[in-house]
Amino acid sequence: MLSGLSQESKKTLSRRSLRLCGEQNKMLIDPFKRRINYLRISVTDRCNLRCRYCMPEEGIPLISHDDILTYEEILRIIRVFAAEGISKIRLTGGEPLVRKGIVDFISRISRMEEIRDLSLTTNGVLLQEFAQDLKKAGLKRINISLDSLKKDRFFQITRRDSFEQVWAGIEEALRVGLSPIKINMVAIKGLNDDEIESFGRLTLHLPLNIRYIEYMPSGNGEEWKESDLLTIPQIKSRLKKIGNLINIPSDQWDGPAKRFRIEGAIGEIGLIGAVSSHFCQECNRIRLTPDGKIRTCLFSDNEIDVKEILRKGGNDQNLRETLLLALRTKPERHHINTHQFKKCQRNMSAIGG
Ligand code: SAM
Repeated sequence: MLSGLSQESKKTLSRRSLRLCGEQNKMLIDPFKRRINYLRISVTDRCNLRCRYCMPEEGIPLISHDDILTYEEILRIIRVFAAEGISKIRLTGGEPLVRKGIVDFISRISRMEEIRDLSLTTNGVLLQEFAQDLKKAGLKRINISLDSLKKDRFFQITRRDSFEQVWAGIEEALRVGLSPIKINMVAIKGLNDDEIESFGRLTLHLPLNIRYIEYMPSGNGEEWKESDLLTIPQIKSRLKKIGNLINIPSDQWDGPAKRFRIEGAIGEIGLIGAVSSHFCQECNRIRLTPDGKIRTCLFSDNEIDVKEILRKGGNDQNLRETLLLALRTKPERHHINTHQFKKCQRNMSAIGG
């Protein structure tokens, strides 16, 4: 059956089938029977914006350089975890594009057989400069955070005058063919909720995927109030003013977003109700902080140290055991909106949102 194929195609096919067998054999399952295959890595806690809901003006105390995992250390963790069943990676921060050597790091991850999906979350400030190199390094898709399409308001939210750079970054990402390009907008009542429709309209003529994210009680920014929350049903009813919303079935890489298309649009809408409709029962992710702690839930301060293992000469088996131990502690759900909720100690910029 393979006789008509070139040597190279045969090799690729047999590598793929090995990979499929591997996937069937290696699955990380937590105590609540969730399959965990997604690792979000925060490569730095440094950021070139100061979004009000995330950080105070003066920033937050930074992790010392010595405590930040080296790329070699992160690659080793990825290798070990991928052999156990992690196949999806997102790089985040802080702002990942401010860390030196990020492009080379990405190209090394993108060459790993087991990693089937690699993505990056950025605020876009440096994207115009990096988009082409990121694409060449093997990055296919990208998430860009943008909470306002108005220059003045962008400044009001981020405390930096960088709207034009971000927009140029989005244009460059489109030009070099990163796809899909997802724009993450955190919708906050009274701050940017009058822009829900303007963001939605972008999908009518641009191949962008606009994702509305509910404002969550985390970070060291301005105090979160429930009254600031704009829920997904509220966002959806505003979007319906633009046109009919057509459901798009989720695929295996979608995560928690509910997908829609405004009738006639070339782009997509994604709605992420982290607060009003928690999707913990479908959670497939764990996180790695810049200083080498595994967090199994964005809203739980329970952290398991892998840096210590790496730096004290631990072997791959020790790393594997730590991963399995971490999975056993993954909570069933977060407790936002219940009396049990406690705001987490670590800032979003040092977890990786
Ligand atoms: N610097 C990168 C960026 O801006 O995309 C990556 C890190 S940033 C912490 C990741 C995402 O978390 C951003 O989209 C940001 O808007 C989001 N975020 C931060 N604090 C949040 C909050 N309290 N509620 C909802 N999203 C939040």
